[in-house]
Amino acid sequence: MIIKNVDLETVCGITSKLPDNTLPEIAFAGKSNVGKSSLINTLMNRKSYARISATPGKTQTINFYNINQEFYLVDLPGYGYAKVSEQEKQKWGRMIERYLHGSKQLRAVFLLIDIRHDPSANDKMMYDWIVSQGYQPIIIATKLDKIKRSQKDKQVKAVRQGLGLSQGTTVIPFSSVTKQGRDELWELAEKEYLN
Ligand code: GDP
Repeated sequence: MIIKNVDLETVCGITSKLPDNTLPEIAFAGKSNVGKSSLINTLMNRKSYARISATPGKTQTINFYNINQEFYLVDLPGYGYAKVSEQEKQKWGRMIERYLHGSKQLRAVFLLIDIRHDPSANDKMMYDWIVSQGYQPIIIATKLDKIKRSQKDKQVKAVRQGLGLSQGTTVIPFSSVTKQGRDELWELAEKEYLN
């Protein structure tokens, strides 16, 4: 993927109307601090265009990045942030549901899981939720550089088991530090979802 230009075109808050885009969208979900902003910056070849949060979970918006005037990367708000009230969590849930359910252009949902840890109950819930909306999520196992190479297969297996993935589900180990997985992710997106 050659990134010619990147534009944060739309930022939607809880009550905002979601955009009626005509270009294809691919969305990214994951718990706070999993490395979603870093991944989006890596995909866009930008250092800090997507916010990298010191206070995880603070910004509950859906951000639409227009890439090359060809498609959108959609940054969904991070979940699982303990300090958020129940009421806010519910609002957040409704917003994501509204997006997953309502977008006419959404082609694929990528779910980020930290490769070091077994998926949490929230991760599992998010996975099941995406599936129930009719999408087969692609899993990105983040922070690959934080484990030893010899641990990779074992950790990928743990992620697969934790989420109860079917054989056919793709898991892409990824690092924003080494950029490992970047090309594979773009190739998959271009081949399967953006053509
Ligand atoms: P978000 O809350 O999901 O958007 O996560 P961020 O992208 O803000 O990252 C959370 C923290 O993890 C930051 O301190 C990042 O520098 C760090 N981080 C993100 N991705 C990686 C990665 O691939 N490798 C390493 N070592 N650290 C990462």
